[in-house]
Amino acid sequence: MIDRTLVIVKPDGVYRSLTGRIVTSLEDAGLKLIATKMVSPSAELAGTHYAADEKWLNDVGNKATASYKEKGVEVKESPREIGMRIRQFLVDYFTSGPVVAMVFEGNEAVFVTRKILGPTEPRKADPSTIRGRYSSDSYDLADKSKRAVKNLVHMSEDREIAEREIALWFKKEEITSYKRSDEDIMYS
Ligand code: ADP
Ligand code: MG
Repeated sequence: MIDRTLVIVKPDGVYRSLTGRIVTSLEDAGLKLIATKMVSPSAELAGTHYAADEKWLNDVGNKATASYKEKGVEVKESPREIGMRIRQFLVDYFTSGPVVAMVFEGNEAVFVTRKILGPTEPRKADPSTIRGRYSSDSYDLADKSKRAVKNLVHMSEDREIAEREIALWFKKEEITSYKRSDEDIMYS
């Protein structure tokens, strides 16, 4: 099924000049870039993007708790409290410099993009992914510096979230429609 996803090169990805490689890695897999813009996000935009959604706060907090436990670190905060702390780090991270927001379209774009860009913690991400190849950052290093994990890139979690995020970052008229020269070869 053809779907769309939002990809954002975070400030560390921009500063490290990885935007081109990130775009290429997705285009090489057949995904089509249909919108892009460079922005310095306001705290309001960053805060709306990382909305204080209960499921997200708990999911992020649970992932962090599992990683603390794996390392034998005692956890006193609830997953939600950890989620709220990380959300503030993310707003600080997103407002710390320019980002490149993009929409990619293609077969299973949400799924394929997550596969190519890799899981959240670069330390654990496979070296064939963007996060695993270009970063070694970890939860504990981020914790020590009281910041978000610098994992270069954001990508939507699922189709519904993707559509919500795309509408937040792009007006309808900023999203293009065209045919890639290899679409017939890939899709027919
Ligand atoms: P993903 O970006 O892989 O979808 P999440 O949605 O779970 O990951 O988290 C959003 C972002 O929050 C991550 O990309 C990362 O920058 C940051 N983050 C997540 N968990 C932690 C953590 N335990 N410590 C610091 N930053 C975190
Ligand atoms: Mg996410």
